[in-house]
Amino acid sequence: MSGIDSLGDLRGKRVLVRSDLNVPLDGDRITDDGRIRASVPTIRALAEAGARVVVTAHLGRPKGAPDPAYSLRPVAGRLGELLGRPVAFATDTVGESATATVESLADGDVALLENVRFNEGETSKDDDVRGSFAGQLAQLADAFVSDGFGVVHRKQASVYDVALRLPSAMGGLVAAEIDVLRRLTVDPARPYVVVLGGSKVSDKLGVIDNLLGKADKLLIGGGMVYTFLKAQGHEVGKSLLEEDQLDTCLRYLTEAAERGVEILLPTDIVVDTEFPSGEREPQPVVVPASAIPGDSLGLDIGPESGAAFAAALAEAKTVFWNGPMGVFEVAAFAEGTRAVAEALTHVDGLSVVGGGDSAAAVRALGFDEAAFGHISTGGGASLEFLEGKELPGIAVLER
Ligand code: ADP
Ligand code: MG
Repeated sequence: MSGIDSLGDLRGKRVLVRSDLNVPLDGDRITDDGRIRASVPTIRALAEAGARVVVTAHLGRPKGAPDPAYSLRPVAGRLGELLGRPVAFATDTVGESATATVESLADGDVALLENVRFNEGETSKDDDVRGSFAGQLAQLADAFVSDGFGVVHRKQASVYDVALRLPSAMGGLVAAEIDVLRRLTVDPARPYVVVLGGSKVSDKLGVIDNLLGKADKLLIGGGMVYTFLKAQGHEVGKSLLEEDQLDTCLRYLTEAAERGVEILLPTDIVVDTEFPSGEREPQPVVVPASAIPGDSLGLDIGPESGAAFAAALAEAKTVFWNGPMGVFEVAAFAEGTRAVAEALTHVDGLSVVGGGDSAAAVRALGFDEAAFGHISTGGGASLEFLEGKELPGIAVLER
């Protein structure tokens, strides 16, 4: 696989880097800069090699048109601080501002283009629409470096199509991520325990199919719990629920039993009558998982479940964790996530945290990142890799 060295002498060359700078914002304040920090080494290496570095990235999910709420401008400032050199900011992606900004770069300078998803071509399902946008991006550069691990599972213009149009290489961050994930798929030390949570329920349910063939134990928390509980015949009140996945959940439970894989579901749940909003003090109540009141919704796994999950993790030699156990952003519903994170720090073996929110949770709850084997910048991408799916953004570099 070809790293940035394969691009030859970069002095004076314009290098387009796709980074993942999709950080959580509160207004224009960056609440967790983990992804920016993870992107710095590759950008710095290119700048130090004398390249004129043009960074492209997305923020959030704007609808294919400029939207000031999703501007990358605050990110340019933070990136400059972390790099220790100014970062020029282009107010568009392939327009006049981008062209002028790239032209003004000297060797070793760095520019950031505005949110690439302000262009409908970025995420279009139409190959021609995407291709033509990628062609415009490619005109800004002489070479391409793919370093946005969080997006390599997406067939998007700045991830996939642009690599067809420029000499391309894999950035150090993507290479390091793939390296760790390979260790999870090739002969992992056992027991191998996977913890799944978060709110992207249908995405993550799909992963279980494949994991049942690989992991020894599956711990389920977060928003996914309630579809399983309902499938087992329990009422879940106003909790997150995917009605059309009930059969799938039942099938997983049967299949797991047949294969000797243990699926561990929480036995107690922290509920409230409303989703936390900031306008009302949370009123957390712990109830049995089999008795969620009709007027309530599950917002975290309970203390008994947290302890059971921690006990399962204490025996593990390999752990992959994706998705918070509850609405960890609110202290009243953060304890389940804290229990799992804490248990991961004691794993005697390889522990991997994957997912933007999971990684942010680890930091927000005050854990030392060094206590984990690896904190991945990409949730969806790492899950798809573990499922054995081909990642378009990687495959295109390996042509
Ligand atoms: P990741 O980014 O780590 O892959 P997700 O994006 O799938 O994780 O999910 C993260 C979000 O899930 C968090 O914002 C958290 O508040 C939310 N969440 C966790 N548990 C629940 C729940 N029971 N109900 C609703 N949302 C939940
Ligand atoms: Mg997320």
